[in-house]
This record gives sequence, C-alpha cells and structure tokens, in this order.
Amino acid sequence: TMDYAPAPEGSGEAKAWLATHAAGFGHFINGAWVGAGRAESFSSNDPSTGKRLARIAQGSQADVDAAVAAARAAQGPWAAAGGAVRARHLYALARMVQRHARLLAVVESMDNGKPIRETRDIDVPLVARHFYHHAGWAQVQATEFADQRPVGVVGQIIPWNFPLLMLAWKIAPALALGNTVVLKPAEYTPLSALLFAELAAAAGLPAGVLNIVTGDGTTGALLVDHPGVDKLAFTGSTEVGRLIRERTAGSGKALTLELGGKSPFIVFDDADLDAAVEGVVDAIWFNQGQVCCAGSRLLVQEGVAERFIGKLKRRMAALRVGAPLDKAIDMGAIVAPEQLARIRALVATAAAEGGTVYQAPGAEAACPGEGCFYPPTLITGVQPGATVVREEIFGPVLVTGSFRTPDEAVMLANNSRYGLSASVWSENIGLALDIAPKLVAGVVWVNATNLFDAAVGFGGTRESGFGREGGREGCYEYLKPIAWDERPLRSAPVATPAAPAA
Ligand code: NAD
Repeated sequence: TMDYAPAPEGSGEAKAWLATHAAGFGHFINGAWVGAGRAESFSSNDPSTGKRLARIAQGSQADVDAAVAAARAAQGPWAAAGGAVRARHLYALARMVQRHARLLAVVESMDNGKPIRETRDIDVPLVARHFYHHAGWAQVQATEFADQRPVGVVGQIIPWNFPLLMLAWKIAPALALGNTVVLKPAEYTPLSALLFAELAAAAGLPAGVLNIVTGDGTTGALLVDHPGVDKLAFTGSTEVGRLIRERTAGSGKALTLELGGKSPFIVFDDADLDAAVEGVVDAIWFNQGQVCCAGSRLLVQEGVAERFIGKLKRRMAALRVGAPLDKAIDMGAIVAPEQLARIRALVATAAAEGGTVYQAPGAEAACPGEGCFYPPTLITGVQPGATVVREEIFGPVLVTGSFRTPDEAVMLANNSRYGLSASVWSENIGLALDIAPKLVAGVVWVNATNLFDAAVGFGGTRESGFGREGGREGCYEYLKPIAWDERPLRSAPVATPAAPAA
C-alpha cells in the first residue's frame, strides 16, 4: 500500500557524518571536542526504529567548569570586537546553515522523529532566518542599545521538540549582542547541536564563544548552579522551570523561562470552517503535537460544533503516520518510548473520566509496527475540569469543548494555569479583535496558528514562563543597563540662566 510514496529522503550524508564520530561524540568546549568515548555516556536513538544513532558524552562538573571558563575567557574579546564583526559571524552561521540545510534536516528528523518535510521546509529555514535577523541587531547594536551591555556568560538549556530551532532562538540573540554561551541540548536529541558546533567552527566562530555540553538533567543542574554563569535561559517543562527558578533565587543570575502550554483554539460559528480544520491539523498534529504552543484545546461555538467535528474526523482519516524520512507522511515518530507511554496514559485517563476517544478507523493499525508512533487522536465529551483539559499532553491529542457566547469562549479559554498562545477563528474581524486582547496568552493568532517570525517576540505568561525570544524584546533579555558610573554624558552641561531683566 506504500508503493506510491516517494523515495525516503537520502540519509547517506547523515550516516557518513555519524560515522566520523563512531567512537562517540564529545562536548564542544573552547573550539575542540572533549571527552569523546568516555564511559559516562548514553545513546541517542532513532525513535522510528529504536536503533542507536550515536554515543553521547554525559557532562560532568569538570566539563561544565571547563565550558564556563572558556565562555568567560572569550566573552571580553567577543564583546569588544563590536557589533559589525559579530554581525559578520552571524551571517556566516546563517549561510552555513543554508549550505548544509539538507544534512541538518535529515539529522534532525533521524534524531527527533519529525517529518523531513517539516525539518526541511520549516525548522531549518527558520533557523537560518533567526541568524540573519540577529545579525541585523548586532549591526545596529551600538546605536539601538547604546545604554546597554551584554549580560556576560549565558547558560542555555533546551528541549527536544525543536532541537535546532531552539538552539537558534537561544544562541542567535545571545551571540549577536556580545554574550558567550554554554548550551546543553536535550538528551533525546543532541545531534543537530553537535553538528551545528562543527559547522560553527568551520565558519570561523572564535573558540569559546559557543560551547556545547551534552548530558541529561543532572548536567543541566550543574549549569544552573554554576557560579560563573551570569544568566540562564531555559526552554522545557514547567516542572523543571520551577526548579530552576527556585535554585537561582537570590543568586543574582538573570533568568528567562519558556515553559509548557495548553493553548485554546477557538472557532466561532461564522468561521471559514475548512480553513479552521486545516488550522487544527497544524495546531495539534504538526510535530506530532509536541509543540509548546500547540492548539490542544479546541473550543467550538455550539451552532457549528457537530459539523466542525464531522469535518475534522474526515480530515483525520487522510493523515498519514510513518517513517520520518518519507516525504509523503504527515506525522512522524514520538520522540521516545517514555513520551509515548505518557501520551497513552493521559488518553487512558480521558476515557476513565468519561471522555470519548476517537481515532480514524484503522489509524492505529496503519502506524509502523516498530518504533514510537501514535495516531492523531480526538477527545470529546470531557468536563472543563478533566485531567486532559488541564494537563499538557505534548502529543497528537486534541481535547474538544463547546461554548455559546464570546464571553463564555473567553472564560473557558482563560481557564488554564498556562498562557502561551491562542488561536481565534472568525470571519468577523471586529469580533476577533475584541476577543484577542481578552485572552491571557503571550501570542494570539487570528485565523492562523503557529506563525513564528524572528522579528516578533515569543513567550508566555502565567505558568508558561516569562521573557521573550525574537525581535527587539528578545534582545533586551541578553542585555543589561550600563552602570551609572559608566554612562557617557549625553548632553552639554546645562547653561546658567541669564539673570532676569530688571
Ligand atoms: P524538560 O523540562 O524535561 O527538559 C528540558 C531540558 O531541561 C532538557 O535539556 C533537560 O535535560 C533539562 N533538564 C531536566 N531536568 C533539569 C534540571 N533539574 N536542571 C536543569 N536542566 C534540566 O522538558 P522536555 O520534556 O525536554 O520538553 C518538553 C516541555 O518543554 C514541554 O512541557 C513543552 O511545553 C516545553 N516547551 C516549551 C517551549 C516554549 O517556548 N515555551 C518550547 C518547547 C518546549
């Protein structure tokens, strides 16, 4: 039944690259590989097969110390080099990403399980765009941020759902504005960060400016606690975000947190329903639903609810789950067995709490036999207080509810401990623009979803975290005001007023 599928994207180049690190990857510290082949290591697997792709070093206290020391030594010269020089480095990184786009996309899809169409057409182009955009900020830093200085050495900890894109969101603004970085990728998906480090070195990025230390949460905790770190930027779960906030309290370290979400997707009865159905597909089945801003709570106005759910179910039947490198699939693999087990457990909770779980007929059986796969899933008939309405599932599972009035839509949408994003669908722009500012969310999309732009700040409120990434707002997260005694005198001394005429 798969004969009509185009050939999988070639993985030859990616396998050849992995073979150059067959003895295991080390950390990238001060421009060199450190600790490859040590006993303290773990494997990074292909979630669509369960097979090991590479051995990865587990970062120790000594590794984190070395990385922070390298970043500290590099920071002064990097800041002193000036915005124009840093801009040239960021342009070079952007060009490098574009030149190796195909390899980066394949490595990312192999390590994470996401469809090659997404990594190729969305993730990697957005990565390049992020470096180009921030090259521009470096270029104009001296005038645009004249009263600001770099924060210094930044520790950055990222999740596995958009490994390379989250790396770009973190390091592009940090480096552009004169900071140096120690970044820890997620343990499920370290490969694209390690490949990026290699490309950055080839592009001539000075040693110590970017350091990558791999490892699990214990390595992350060493970075959080390190006294040589001036600022921490974290993207990941709300649970770990809370821990990091506690551990950095009183330390003087600056902190930004990008955490979880349970974002509402609101469809009014005058919406273009077919467009809204495509919006839902993008909101909850893009990246297997492993998206912090996934539109995971569908709220449909009562008059069109039945018709809308009918259309959605028909659309679900056409979604194909399969091998990540197959260009014809809509959904790839879930990142790891533990995540798959978590999704299954939450769906079971929905059923136990009285919900109806729907998957297109044969959808489960159509998933590949081995590897971590889960079909598009729709849950109806749950109360607003049900576990699956409150908890982030971080998988391809949509929870639905309905509302009568715009006020009720706002009330239900805001009935969450999170506040990351929201999506509003209506042909009445007056209604959409009335609703949008009432929604508690860092970003609200109207008749759209998952729009990301390097020039626009992204981030959350409530338990979705604080701080923004992207654009001018994001730049301020990597700057601090110049101390008063360093400030240049900005205007001529005030002249003594002439004596009033008698
Ligand atoms: P996670 O919090 O378990 O892990 C994230 C990172 O933190 C990993 O690199 C991990 O090794 C590290 N880590 C774990 N324990 C740590 C500790 N005690 N100290 C320091 N570092 C530690 O999250 P995850 O499962 O990798 O990612 C999924 C979560 O990330 C979801 O909840 C999702 O909503 C969220 N997310 C948010 C955004 C956003 O922009 N708001 C983006 C992507 C993902």
